[in-house]
Amino acid sequence: MSSTGLVRVVDHPLVAASLSLLRAKQTPPEIFRRHLQDLSVLLFAEASRSWETKAITVETPLAVCGGTVLANPIVLVPILRAGLGMLDGIQRIAPEAAIGHIGLYRDAETLRPVSYYDRLPVNVAAAEVLLLDPMLATGNSASEAASILKAQGAVSIQFLCVVACPTGLEQLQREHPDIPIFTGAIDPHLDDHGYIVPGLGDAGDRYFGTG
Ligand code: URA
Repeated sequence: MSSTGLVRVVDHPLVAASLSLLRAKQTPPEIFRRHLQDLSVLLFAEASRSWETKAITVETPLAVCGGTVLANPIVLVPILRAGLGMLDGIQRIAPEAAIGHIGLYRDAETLRPVSYYDRLPVNVAAAEVLLLDPMLATGNSASEAASILKAQGAVSIQFLCVVACPTGLEQLQREHPDIPIFTGAIDPHLDDHGYIVPGLGDAGDRYFGTG
C-alpha cells in the first residue's frame, strides 16, 4: 500500500485486477457488481487494519486460548446511489455493521451538493464510520456527506472509494483533513462533465445496469 498523508492507495494485485475489470467498458453489470463488491472488501480490510481491538478468552474444543473482538461498533454509510454498490461485499464480512444512508443531488445552478435524505444509526458517535462512494470526483459530495456525519456526532470516519482524482482528494482533504481516504487508484483528471478520466464511467449506471 502506498500512502501520502491520509491518502492510502491500496495497490494489491487483487485490487488492480478487479479495478481493470471495472474499467473495461464491455464488462457486463453482473461481473461489474461482483468486482465492485470484492474490491470494496479489500479496501475495507485495509481501512480496518488500525481499528482498536479488545482481548478476550475463547474456549476451543481442545483448550482455552486468547482471542480478539473489535472494540467499537461499525457503521457503513453509502452515499446514494453508487455507494450502495460497495455495501453488499463489506456486509458479508461485517454482518454486525449498522447501515446509514446519505442522499445528495447536485443543484443545477450552484453545482453544489444538496442533501435530500439522511438516516444514520443512533450509535454513530461511538462507531468506526466508513463513508462509501466508488468515485471521488469533485469531492463535493464526499465533503458534504462527511459534514453531515460530523453534525450527527460521528468522530472516527474513513472514506473508501475505488477511484479518486487529484481534484477530489484535494477538496476532501481541505475540508476534512482528519478523514483518511482509501482508494484503489488515483486517476489523472476530471473531464468537463465531472467524470474521472480514465475512470470507469458512471459507477451507479454500471452497477445498476441503467447506463
Ligand atoms: N461519478 C461517477 O460515477 N463516475 C465518475 O467518473 C465521476 C463521478
